[in-house]
Amino acid sequence: MQPIKNIVIVGGGTAGWTAAAMLSCHFPPERCRIEVVESEEIGTVGVGESTLPPFVRLLQKLGIDEQDFVRSTQGCYKLGIRFENWLEQKHSYFHPFGALGRNIGNHDFYQCWLKARQEGPVAPLMAFSPCAAMAEAGRFYQPTRAGGGPAGTASYALHMDASLATDYLRRYAKAKGVHHTEGRVTSVNQQPGGNIASVQLENGQSLCADFFIDCTGFSALLIEKTLGVGFKDWSELLPCDRSVSVKTAAPDVLRPYTQATARKAGWSWRIPLRTSTGHGHVYSSRFCTDAQAKSILLKSLDAPRISEPRFIPFTPGHREEMWKGNCLSLGLSAGFIEPLESTSIHLIARGVEFFLRYFPDTDCDPALIREYNRRMSADYEEIRDFILLHYCASQRTDSDFWKHCRQLPVPESLQQRIDLFRAQGLLREQLDPLFRPSSWQAVFEGMGIRPRRPAPQTDTLDMETLRQALEQTHAAVNAVTTLQPTHEEYLKGLQSTSS
Ligand SMILES: Cc1cc2nc3c(=O)[nH]c(=O)nc-3n(C[C@H](O)[C@H](O)[C@H](O)COP(=O)(O)OP(=O)(O)OC[C@H]3O[C@@H](n4cnc5c(N)ncnc54)[C@H](O)[C@@H]3O)c2cc1C
Repeated sequence: MQPIKNIVIVGGGTAGWTAAAMLSCHFPPERCRIEVVESEEIGTVGVGESTLPPFVRLLQKLGIDEQDFVRSTQGCYKLGIRFENWLEQKHSYFHPFGALGRNIGNHDFYQCWLKARQEGPVAPLMAFSPCAAMAEAGRFYQPTRAGGGPAGTASYALHMDASLATDYLRRYAKAKGVHHTEGRVTSVNQQPGGNIASVQLENGQSLCADFFIDCTGFSALLIEKTLGVGFKDWSELLPCDRSVSVKTAAPDVLRPYTQATARKAGWSWRIPLRTSTGHGHVYSSRFCTDAQAKSILLKSLDAPRISEPRFIPFTPGHREEMWKGNCLSLGLSAGFIEPLESTSIHLIARGVEFFLRYFPDTDCDPALIREYNRRMSADYEEIRDFILLHYCASQRTDSDFWKHCRQLPVPESLQQRIDLFRAQGLLREQLDPLFRPSSWQAVFEGMGIRPRRPAPQTDTLDMETLRQALEQTHAAVNAVTTLQPTHEEYLKGLQSTSS
């Protein structure tokens, strides 16, 4: 049993530096030497601006001051995603972070709301979400400072400039002792059994290690080009395969949410940052040319453009094995499901967490590798199903793309979720899922999938008590929302605390 004493991470994008930061927090340099090699000439993918609440928790675990991170990355706060035109044209809904309402007695809040709705008029589901209410009002507050009321059940994530975030994590990891080499890897040398022995740089330098992490983005230099690991292609399930993105000047109003607007052959994002806004159009090359996609994107801009349009092709799916032998793949080299629910950076951090949980010796016991691959595949499948739901439940028929979406083959795992939800508003139990019940409930509701009846346990509920409890929660969410600062005021406060 030889412990791993050195790790080389190839690639210095968000994946490479997130992995370096997390590993350096775990291993002091004398226990394990970590080195990141990256090529400035190749550069990074340069997108990835919208995160999920676990990213905020990751910053906390790393001991990073969140406010400093927000200031340094032109960051803003995100309370969820506003979906426009997905169910049908001119329809919108919100997928908020955090809880929807609060349980009433021993009864699940969502079931209580369903019961009340079955019996008569009731406020919309989003009226019980502090995040949805704050987003609607353009307000923001840290839930931890909101006391025990309903605002305390809110949650949030960040919008950030992807390059500045990578710079931040690079500085963090280097301060913790991570070595940094600039250079292009031109070849990879293998041991007789197939494991990776070293990577060779253009300048002739060779980097040996016990373990390698492939963070080379879509080029997947180690996991695919060297070890030949195949790709589970989900193009038949997820219709989009290209994106075009630009930046514009900062908007007048900084909305505390990502906007995802469905288009004729895909959708476009709008991500506010403090000094600019990220815009992108994700589309299907079967139904839309690059020129059409660019034109749709440029016509939708609401401020002067400050960057050239950048096209990125992709194939939805993931590696058949994300870890093979002494090589782990993270980030785009491991897989990519389109950015509709901002899940990629989460998957990077999740990959490192599982790697630390199943951390091997130099023999890389296959049992650890199998469990890692099983666990990560389950995460990819959960995210695939959640994203597919947005497409397959749409009632749009105004373009060939949306007609195609109505015929997408729905995997059994998603069909079971839909059937269970339609039956009694129930959700499939899953070990440590990314998307909590409130996320599924919000998207099912937003996409027009409604349960036939509430669960029978609600039959014993006293309707008067139920109505009063719902009214109180609704009123409390409203009251607390109006007390919060606007998102701009909150961000200004952050700037002044730094000076
Ligand atoms: C259109 C689009 C929108 C996205 N939006 C989001 C979002 O909102 N939220 C989210 O969480 N994620 C998003 N993502 C995903 C996110 O961008 C990536 O998960 C994240 O940036 C990680 O990328 P990476 O580090 O794997 O790859 P890259 O950023 O491509 O980095 C690859 C690194 O490898 C290096 N490299 C490559 N080859 C070599 C070589 N031969 N020698 C040396 N170095 C090499 C490069 O120089 C670079 O440093 C989006 C992705 C796309 C395509």
